[in-house]
Amino acid sequence: MAKFLCKCLHVIGLVRTPAPEQYTMIPNVVLYDLVDRVEKKDMSGNALIAEVDRTGQDVIHCPKCGRVWIKGFDEVVYKAYVVEVDSE
Ligand SMILES: [Zn+2]
Repeated sequence: MAKFLCKCLHVIGLVRTPAPEQYTMIPNVVLYDLVDRVEKKDMSGNALIAEVDRTGQDVIHCPKCGRVWIKGFDEVVYKAYVVEVDSE
C-alpha cells in the first residue's frame, strides 16, 4: 500500500518504511515476552521485528484529523476510530 486516503481526505504516504504514520498494536504481554527473549539472547532483533509483524495489528494515525485506523486480524480493510468530543 503506497498511499492511504483518510476519511478527512488527507493522503498518507506509506512508501517509506517505516512510515511515521504507521504503528503496530501488540498486546503488552506479548511484547514483554519478546523483549525478555531478546535480553536472554534467545531471539535476534530481526526475529523480534518479524514476530511483532506476525502478532500485531497494523495501525495508521492521520496527523490531520487524529483518526486512528486499525486493521483487523486476517482482514484487508482498516476500521476508523475517532476521538469523542464531549458536548458539555
Ligand atoms: Zn484524517
